Amino acid sequence: MSATRKPMIAGNWKMHHTHLEAIQVVQKLSYRLDGDDYEAVEVVVCPAFTALRSVQTTIDSDRIPIALGAQNVYPEPQGAFTGEVSPGMLAKLNVSYVIVGHSERREILGDTDDLVARKLRAVLGAGMRPIVCCGETLDERESGAAEEKVAGQIRAAYHGLKAADAEQTVVAYEPIWAIGTGRNATPDDANTMCGLVRATLREIVGSVAEGIRVLYGGSVKPGNIAELMAEPEVDGGLVGGASLDPDDFARIVQYRRSK
Ligand code: PEP
Repeated sequence: MSATRKPMIAGNWKMHHTHLEAIQVVQKLSYRLDGDDYEAVEVVVCPAFTALRSVQTTIDSDRIPIALGAQNVYPEPQGAFTGEVSPGMLAKLNVSYVIVGHSERREILGDTDDLVARKLRAVLGAGMRPIVCCGETLDERESGAAEEKVAGQIRAAYHGLKAADAEQTVVAYEPIWAIGTGRNATPDDANTMCGLVRATLREIVGSVAEGIRVLYGGSVKPGNIAELMAEPEVDGGLVGGASLDPDDFARIVQYRRSK
């Protein structure tokens, strides 16, 4: 965590929680968090598309300072793209952040580096901020190819992007072997890889890289967030499983209290 970048804790609910469950989770989360928590940490929840509207109205009507995020987008303004959702549709729901290039989309649903780069630009074009995911497989880590893979994903996503646009983005370094496995990267490894992401961003967009938040994701839990956040290059967490439960998610947001 740096003194200049505001920490972010973002919950990726994946394909969990109906809209009714999502309303309850966000309400319970808001009962557990207070003004100091929101002051210290930017809190984001990324429900499924079907729950976005319900969570938006809950957040708006109860004036809850939690930002709304989406888990995916299609990089065209409209058209014959059955089953897809446009950037403009998300922006109209007051969505602030959109996850692009999550490893589950890359590995299971075929999102390529090129598609991720288009999504990133489409999100920015609609006035929202992308959370750009990157990360290596276990094979790549064990064969010493993790740095090359992650730097390559960052170069592919950011190549040619203006510094002012890059400044609006957030990156999440998520080693694939740590996602949903209960096995997290050591704080030192997370710091090294988040630092590599920043160094790669610096090559592409220069000094604005210092202001871009780089999150760690992969089995973040209430019990390991504080040590991850103690690292200077880790600016927050993208949290899957542990964000589904409002008690656990609140304890992650409140990591400072467990010091
Ligand atoms: C994720 O999918 O972004 C993630 C980090 O999941 P988990 O926290 O469950 O490992």
